[in-house]
Amino acid sequence: MSSAMLDKLKTYREKRDFSLTSEPSGGSLAPGGNIFVVQKHSSHSQHYDLRLEVDGVLKSWAVPKGPSLDPRDKRLAIETEDHPIEYASFEGTIPQGQYGAGTVEVWDRGCYQNMTQKDGLEISMKEALHSGHAAFRLEGKKLKGGYALTRTKRGWLLVKMKDDISQIKEP
Ligand code: MN
Repeated sequence: MSSAMLDKLKTYREKRDFSLTSEPSGGSLAPGGNIFVVQKHSSHSQHYDLRLEVDGVLKSWAVPKGPSLDPRDKRLAIETEDHPIEYASFEGTIPQGQYGAGTVEVWDRGCYQNMTQKDGLEISMKEALHSGHAAFRLEGKKLKGGYALTRTKRGWLLVKMKDDISQIKEP
């Protein structure tokens, strides 16, 4: 594992005691994939954790209301620390007293395709997230099609793009 990767997971590791939690400490999987996962996390406040594999780690956001299929919904997505790739298959109970105590279950999982463009040219996910706007297509079981993450002053917003999968909720 490179020191750059260790550095990315520093915050993740500092928050956890791996002798007490069954969460992965990370670092055994080679980077290069494009996994996405949404984990339902029932802790002091239930939320959904959206994670996208970018350059060897899972970039992570806590989405209190979870992803929507309705393009009119702007779902707050609070950026959290990078997680190891192995976390994408983590399910279980984080013990009381530990960071994120509660249960974690995989709610949806699959691959994603970066669709972000700037001035008509494709840019990497790393560049996209740095610039504050990323567009990507999810290929999960529950979540499919285009989504956009946009950074605002009060956090990121996760919005479904209009496509043949989006659904406008009836009033
Ligand atoms: Mn969480």
